[in-house]
Amino acid sequence: MSDLSARAAELRALLTRWSVEYHSLDSPSVDDATYDRHYDELAALEAKHPELITSDSPTQRVGSTPSEKFSKVDHVAPMGSLEKVTTDEALFRWAEDAAKRLEVDPSELTYVLEPKIDGSAISLIYENGVLVRGATRGDGARGEDVTANLRTIEVIPLRMLGEAPPLLEVRGEVYMPLSGFHAFNERQEREGKKVAPNPRNAAAGSLRQLNPEITRQRPLSIWIYGSGHGEGITFESHWGMLQWLKEHGFRTNEHAERIAKIEEVARRCAEWEHRRAELDYEIDGVVIKLDSLEFQRQLGALHDRPRWARAYKWAPMTAQTTLVKIHVRVGRTGALNPWAELAPVEVGGVTVSSATLHNEEDINRKDIREGDTVVVQRAGDVIPQVVGPVLPHKPGTVPFKMPSHCPLCAAEIVKPDGEVQHRCPNRACPSRGLESLINWVGPAADIEGVGEQLVRRLWDLGLVRSLPDLYRITAEQLLELDGFQEKSATNVVTAIAGSKEISFSRVLFGLNIPDVGWVTGQNLARDFGSIDALLAAGMDELMACEGIGPDRAEAIAEWFADEPNQALIEELRALGVRMEATEADRPKDGPLTGTQYVITGTLEGWTRDEAKAALEALGAKVSDSVSKKTTGVIVGENPGSKAAKAEKAGVPILGEADLSALLRG
Ligand code: NAD
Repeated sequence: MSDLSARAAELRALLTRWSVEYHSLDSPSVDDATYDRHYDELAALEAKHPELITSDSPTQRVGSTPSEKFSKVDHVAPMGSLEKVTTDEALFRWAEDAAKRLEVDPSELTYVLEPKIDGSAISLIYENGVLVRGATRGDGARGEDVTANLRTIEVIPLRMLGEAPPLLEVRGEVYMPLSGFHAFNERQEREGKKVAPNPRNAAAGSLRQLNPEITRQRPLSIWIYGSGHGEGITFESHWGMLQWLKEHGFRTNEHAERIAKIEEVARRCAEWEHRRAELDYEIDGVVIKLDSLEFQRQLGALHDRPRWARAYKWAPMTAQTTLVKIHVRVGRTGALNPWAELAPVEVGGVTVSSATLHNEEDINRKDIREGDTVVVQRAGDVIPQVVGPVLPHKPGTVPFKMPSHCPLCAAEIVKPDGEVQHRCPNRACPSRGLESLINWVGPAADIEGVGEQLVRRLWDLGLVRSLPDLYRITAEQLLELDGFQEKSATNVVTAIAGSKEISFSRVLFGLNIPDVGWVTGQNLARDFGSIDALLAAGMDELMACEGIGPDRAEAIAEWFADEPNQALIEELRALGVRMEATEADRPKDGPLTGTQYVITGTLEGWTRDEAKAALEALGAKVSDSVSKKTTGVIVGENPGSKAAKAEKAGVPILGEADLSALLRG
């Protein structure tokens, strides 16, 4: 056997095993990126050497053999897989090729774009409008009969609305909404059961339960995206079919759109990569289908992958890697925060080498250990998280334990009753000083050219060990450090001096007062107006401030009563750091004061930031999520789930014209 054919055989064996684990056992042992990489390698090999193609090659078939657990069902029409594209160029090539095969001008093609739901494909058979059978995709030709389980999903009509044809097969994707998935996994954890690595697996596993009662308890839903076969009914376009399905009681996706130009399709695909975080379900791409069913028929399929559709896929948002070490960082309030050092891995187009781990309890509940292969996830722009280990653990790994003594000052660590956080009780612990300095130059004062790295250097050299030290540093001292020249040293000193002028709210946020973050800093600055008023404030006054309950009030009052803290305030005041509120701390009063808006979708005449700034200038608050306090939701083109949420909550929906009217007063 040649090297190439040996490699092809090896890839076939690997992919077949992974496919069974993924499709039949709902228990993948590798991430999708790894699977896709091997698949692409085999496909490329076969394209170059067609003699290597075997009929059982994973490139020639879909999914995996149906399980013996269920009776098998022959599909009325094959349930194919989708050929993927990952670049605009490949998308354009596909459209050009389709036009060429159809012998039409590319401008004659119209497309329907739909989110590619990451769930489990199913087929539903309706006879005279009544659901008689439901099956999984299986190997594309035969699936598993899961009718009893599908019947438990409330949004699947047992009888369709209106007039029904004698026979209609309807296809869709069963999925687990993210909110339901998190709750489901928490419950699994509490009950000591297996946690699902992702919503797709949770949905597929729930659908393939032998006891429908278990399926009923799972938070499943469905998006219907088409039909493979019908008798006594014909559709002309995919779009027309979707509208028909919707009118007949099927849950079709609200984000499906019909688009005439392929360049516009590409633009939308790029938009969805960012907007996917708005959805309460996972999508792993966008599906693009030719709208004309006649064109679809003419194009047909290749190896059960329709030539009339493509899946535009993005880099996956989860990946597997090795957890090298669990480190513990002592925060600016003494809290011990564990974090994971990872072997660098690409997640959603970004290289990730560290991730948060919340606390000891959480780590041990998930049983994450040093040396494990772990699943790392990035959702939207949030900090990467370790979802959990890929079991079994490597030999020799041990459960994680928080250190008994502070890694910096060696004080004995405490864990107050009822709290999940371990803390270093030593107020003089260097970590608090260092971490609060890092917080000051970063989030609080945002000093240009001064970041964590420089602060750590100055700390290590003993030049800066407190906030007042920072304001005493000179250009001459900096010039003695490697990498500084006259200009850069002066710039840093000027930027530090300039930061004395930051708003009083920011000063309060940066002072390291327990539980005082950005929002509470703003509230305290607004209500008290000066540091002297805060020094004199009693518990009742503090508790009158928005967001401050008895516990927080007590912690804040204690902090202000502490002598070293009072000395710190006086030192900073003497150095010229702002200790009184100014205009910048006062909420902007205007005709819209007291109102709160949410903006969603693309506005024609404004960017979102412009609209936000215009509303805020009139005193309105603009927030990201719809709540009871929302006055109205301003909805642009292609709004996200927020519009639907607002509608459900009865919050007024405003268009762009209403926004203009609002701003004109
Ligand atoms: P696919 O990417 O080929 O997509 C086809 C599926 O998309 C359909 O069956 C349907 O279920 C779904 N879909 C969602 N929304 C749709 C819509 N609006 N219109 C039409 N279809 C829609 O998926 P596949 O064939 O199920 O699986 C291939 C992928 O599965 C691979 O790319 C790989 O990432 C993953 N996989 C992973 C492993 C593993 O071990 N991790 C193993 C096998 C497969």
